[in-house]
Amino acid sequence: MPLDNTYTMTIGGKPVSGAGSFPVLNPANEQPIADCPDCSPEQLDQAVAAARAAFPAWSATPIEKRREALLAIAGALAANADELHRLLTSEQGKPHAMAMGDVMGGAYWLQAISGLEIPTHVVEDTEERKGVTRHVPIGVVGAIAPWNFPVILAMFKVAPALLAGNTVVLKPSPFTPLTTLKIGELTRGLIPDGVLNIVSGGDSLGPWMTSHPGIDKISFTGSTATGRKVMASASDTLKRVTLELGGNDAAIVLPDVDVEKIAEQLFWAAFANTGQICIATKRMYVHKDIYEPVKEALVAYARTVKIGDGAEQGTQMGPIQNHQQYKRVLDLIADAKAKGYDFLIGGETSSVPGYFVPVTIIDNPPEDSRIVQEEQFGPVLPLLKFDDIDEVVGRANASDYGLGASVWSADTDKALEIASRLQAGTVWVNETQYLSPLGAFGGHKQSGVGAEGALDGLLEYTITQTTYVKKTAPAAA
Ligand code: NAD
Repeated sequence: MPLDNTYTMTIGGKPVSGAGSFPVLNPANEQPIADCPDCSPEQLDQAVAAARAAFPAWSATPIEKRREALLAIAGALAANADELHRLLTSEQGKPHAMAMGDVMGGAYWLQAISGLEIPTHVVEDTEERKGVTRHVPIGVVGAIAPWNFPVILAMFKVAPALLAGNTVVLKPSPFTPLTTLKIGELTRGLIPDGVLNIVSGGDSLGPWMTSHPGIDKISFTGSTATGRKVMASASDTLKRVTLELGGNDAAIVLPDVDVEKIAEQLFWAAFANTGQICIATKRMYVHKDIYEPVKEALVAYARTVKIGDGAEQGTQMGPIQNHQQYKRVLDLIADAKAKGYDFLIGGETSSVPGYFVPVTIIDNPPEDSRIVQEEQFGPVLPLLKFDDIDEVVGRANASDYGLGASVWSADTDKALEIASRLQAGTVWVNETQYLSPLGAFGGHKQSGVGAEGALDGLLEYTITQTTYVKKTAPAAA
């Protein structure tokens, strides 16, 4: 059967076929599901030109109308959530419920961000003059999204960029472009042409965007290694950047917790979305007094979890999303085996098609091991023992990453005190991965530059403009 080749990019509000195409695979069976348009440099120029042409009118559009545009996109996501989440499962691999969460999370984010106000500050109001600082839009935003949560992470960028009055060229990951292209289709006619352009392509498209002289800001979510390249490339034209990058989140589990009660939560902190979450727990530090019961409870729970094709009823964990990441996770497992670390569960490779890796928990590997030091971004968790709070805080902070962290304890004051010592952009007590659109989300250290969400995130899509008006103007001649 010929591959579905009906997907189109959205440029200037119109459908545009790619100059070429590339196949998109279903990671659960490695079979191609569609041909995706491959954007040429000339087509990117057209998308940027369309965004630039739309900018003057869009930035002058009253903010109330721009709020309505965000709500219209949210409405389109919600109205088409059934089709979109099925498509997302087929290209991303995640179970249907999680795919629905990604789509509806995107709609929720648009709605919540649409209600934000952009402040104006009167900096001086004297008899002589009035000074006012406003936050004005930057221009054309290049938004680059990853493959783990293709919809919501794209909307993290689209919502504030459009609300602030910018126009956007959005690029999904080549591993998961289809749902985003479909969303582009749904927005045609809903919002003015050229305000939101969506292009898809291979490995060169991102670098073309970051070096494009017609793009004024890059908002990027992806790995720290790519983030460095984005920043370097953006420096040539001094683009503004927001970078949401990798993490190696530590969870610290204190001895006063009710192990049976929190075991399931601890499990999903590490393994939800098959571990492919920037803010997944990637190192779990458990106090020595409860290490054995936590270990047993996690392994017992892991044995109940159903891994498989996300499209099948009852699947709780899908495959790794792509071959490159699959190889990386297998390499970390092979390294742990070669070093002789103890596996509490998992570690075996699968012979069935699909990028499946079993739940793998490694028993107290050395602190300098690769599985502790590197971001695994897959279902492999190092479980680590600690004795002393100062020691564990030091271990948690001994990382170039600083995205998230969590502390688990019956004593929330004590947990908060520990949380305040952790070097991370978001710290949770007795939960993980909760994000509010009204809370700033960003990485410390090499986990990012800038923030998303809340007013902080919105202002990343603006530049300041201060006007001073002299009240005692000389009389006209
Ligand atoms: P990635 O860095 O490989 O790719 C991200 C995006 O950048 C893709 O669209 C890709 O095509 C594009 N890209 C690749 N090379 C580029 C270049 N040189 N210039 C410009 N764009 C380029 O990341 P990924 O593998 O898609 O995602 C996984 C990583 O993303 C993990 O490290 C994860 O922690 C991180 N992540 C961070 C957050 C966050 O909010 N902090 C959220 C999700 C994922």
